[in-house]
Amino acid sequence: MQIAVYSTQPYDRRFLDEALAHHAPHGDITLRYFDAALAADTVPLAQGCQAVCVFVNDVLDAHVLEALHGLGVRAVLLRCAGFNNLDVHAAERLGMFAARVPAYAPEAVAEHTLALVQTLNRHTHRAYNRVREGNFALDGLLGVTLHGKTVGIVGLGQIGLATARIFHGLGCRVLGHDPAPDPHFAALGKLVALPALLAASDIVTLHCPLLDSTRHMINHANLARMKPGAMLVNTSRGGLIETAAVIDALKSRHLGALAIDVYEQESALFFRDRSGDILDDDVFQLLLTFPNVLVTGHQGFFTVEAMREIAATTWHNLDCYLRGAPCANRISC
Ligand code: NAD
Repeated sequence: MQIAVYSTQPYDRRFLDEALAHHAPHGDITLRYFDAALAADTVPLAQGCQAVCVFVNDVLDAHVLEALHGLGVRAVLLRCAGFNNLDVHAAERLGMFAARVPAYAPEAVAEHTLALVQTLNRHTHRAYNRVREGNFALDGLLGVTLHGKTVGIVGLGQIGLATARIFHGLGCRVLGHDPAPDPHFAALGKLVALPALLAASDIVTLHCPLLDSTRHMINHANLARMKPGAMLVNTSRGGLIETAAVIDALKSRHLGALAIDVYEQESALFFRDRSGDILDDDVFQLLLTFPNVLVTGHQGFFTVEAMREIAATTWHNLDCYLRGAPCANRISC
């Protein structure tokens, strides 16, 4: 079986190859690696393949799935948890197997959330540059002690719960909002409605999936509900935030700081070295001009442990497909 593996970097190839050697699925497997993301114009790369393996910014809409099906592709292996980029109904209609990696070191994303908070709060990125230039002045590096602060966590699944454990351990008061929270949250914090969480939190961090119902949940109205000077963190999906509204809130000084690992238009930017390019995204460029904004390029998951887990689960899902065995990670309507 040949598999077209899209959106790959050298590190993806390393972990996928290592895991394939250790967890060899049923049958002969040939991986065809591509740097390119899957989209309508890159479907032909999958010619001769029976499966595609994709990541967060690959396009799996009805048009792309139909074109892949026309080439003989019957399985879609997502190397990620979120599947907002997959038209699940179209995949089912075409009888295609689709599976994801539901959990890969949720602590990795939670720990990155803390890294973002403390970088912005304690200005370690500025201190790093200053000290290297022999400037030991502390002016401009003033932060706050997190102990005793209120942290609001929106989405209390695996990552939200791991985040709650971290901030609870730091001595923060933890608030959470989730229509179906993990029961373990009760020992760490208090469940409240979203408006109450926004009004009371010094830090608001988003850990819910991107759905039609959650798209732009952080809009003008909800930003106005936030405490003046609060920090907003998003390591979940860019579409949870209405970027124009956040820029307005930063300009008016109502929002104190913004840390994002994800961005609504990230597919045109992230996971590539664009240091020699002129970036056409004016909104993104504007975000980078604020001293109280920190952006990382969707690296929350990027630890050795998580990469191993992603690769092992991907090949486990393929093995289930090849053997016709039930697959707990299968995506269905
Ligand atoms: P999960 O499915 O375990 O938890 C998501 C939680 O969000 C669930 O408990 C669900 O009930 C809750 N939820 C749904 N709608 C909500 C709403 N309107 N308000 C509040 N909560 C709501 O998922 P997870 O593994 O914790 O991952 C969370 C998200 O993190 C994923 O959807 C993915 O988009 C993102 N993610 C980012 C990275 C990264 O590298 N930055 C890595 C992995 C996952």
